[in-house]
Amino acid sequence: MSGLVHGAVLVGVEAVRVEVEVDLLRRLPSVAIVGLPSPSVREAAERVRSAILASGFDFPRNRVVISLAPADIRKDGTSFDLPMAMAILAASGVADRGRAAVWLFAGELTLAGELRPVRGALSIACAARDAGFVGVVLPEGNGAEGALVHGLSVRVARSLREVVDFINGAVELPSASAPPGGDAIAELDLRDVQGQEEARFALEVAAAGGHNLIFEGPPGCGKTMLAARLPGILPSLSAAEALECTRIHSAAGLRASQQGIVRVRPFRAPHHSVSTAAIIGGANLHPGEASLAHHGVLFLDEFPEFRRDVREALRAPLEDRVVVLSRAGGRVVFPASFALIAASNPCPCGYHGHPTRACVCSPSARQRYRAHLSGPIVDRIDLRVLLAPVEPARLFGESLAEASAAVRARVEAARSAQSARNGAGCTNASLAADLVVPLADPTGPALRALVNHVEASGTSARVGRRILRVSRTIADLESAVRVDVRHVCQAIALRFDGEEEVAP
Ligand SMILES: [Zn+2]
Repeated sequence: MSGLVHGAVLVGVEAVRVEVEVDLLRRLPSVAIVGLPSPSVREAAERVRSAILASGFDFPRNRVVISLAPADIRKDGTSFDLPMAMAILAASGVADRGRAAVWLFAGELTLAGELRPVRGALSIACAARDAGFVGVVLPEGNGAEGALVHGLSVRVARSLREVVDFINGAVELPSASAPPGGDAIAELDLRDVQGQEEARFALEVAAAGGHNLIFEGPPGCGKTMLAARLPGILPSLSAAEALECTRIHSAAGLRASQQGIVRVRPFRAPHHSVSTAAIIGGANLHPGEASLAHHGVLFLDEFPEFRRDVREALRAPLEDRVVVLSRAGGRVVFPASFALIAASNPCPCGYHGHPTRACVCSPSARQRYRAHLSGPIVDRIDLRVLLAPVEPARLFGESLAEASAAVRARVEAARSAQSARNGAGCTNASLAADLVVPLADPTGPALRALVNHVEASGTSARVGRRILRVSRTIADLESAVRVDVRHVCQAIALRFDGEEEVAP
């Protein structure tokens, strides 16, 4: 006797359909799982057995062979509990074989036969639709995600018993319903940030042109406060982007059951003690911080304190906008297109150059610290802004600063101008080297000002192009057709090189 049902396994962010086939052999009772199961899937055998018994069904007194195909993909996670149980019950004649074969199942089972939510339900539902299934049966806690997928029936259940009764036509399972629409506006507003005009402008330029940014300044000057407001001035997520973000967060197991789609651009701020695997992914093939920040912001506070290998690991996603992980049996690609904001103190104690507090660092400690502010990652950062400590009088000022909504309107207009000129979705920051001058279209005097600066400061042509890209963004924020001298001057001012020693 045999039974065949379908489940799905996550490979990166995508779900791949898996055939779960059960054969009942006339041998001594035992359970064997074949087809590259991970230890956690192997352990599921006991859970599935208990769940079947607790649901009031007999467990076959045979040798139960569960085969998972395709055999070359490693099966991990707990989502196979339900399809394995259904395949066993189909093989033993308890569940209707024909109906069980046209639905895709995912869910973790408790020993008592209840269903628990799984990671990646959104991708699993997408896989079911793409493979032409009638529908997918998910745990109740995954319903909000499943409801985002149109074009197939998404049913939710609380227990194995309910699923079997549904497949046998005894009951109807409720359809998954989308949660009420939430607020699509980021909660943190630039209105709360007093002073720091240059930093606010840098943030606007970063948002408009897709430029990476580093803030340098003493503790308490508002670096984190400013960075956390970048998602709120970026253009709103498109429907496709929102779905992509939700799939990634779902694959990482970060979605709470009542949450539906990700509506606000992500803001991820990993601690500087983070490992390479946690930043780019790897452990159990869960997405890393770089992917969780996809379409949003990755904020690295106290950047010089991050381990060197972690900083180096970010180089690939900054260039390719994806993370590629190699593993036995192939490669997994995670999307990782994020805006990078780094922040740094001027020295290890944080008070070098501070007007009222003394720095306690030795010159060599300061130098070692600053040495971390160079290298391949910092080379890819277009904007470097030095923040001064905020005078207390300004912090408690009466007047409100400009709100995020007004800034976002300018950013969106600048982005439209870039799409029209550079090609859809191509920001100034990602312009190819040979296209920078023709597309930035600087006036004669602007180009001369740029060349003069490059020569006088002894910097490279590469840095010159970075300045021109930023100039183009500043011009786009003003709806200017050509880049003029003042745009170039403003762009140069947004590149504090950090090398001048401030007298202690
Ligand atoms: Zn210091």
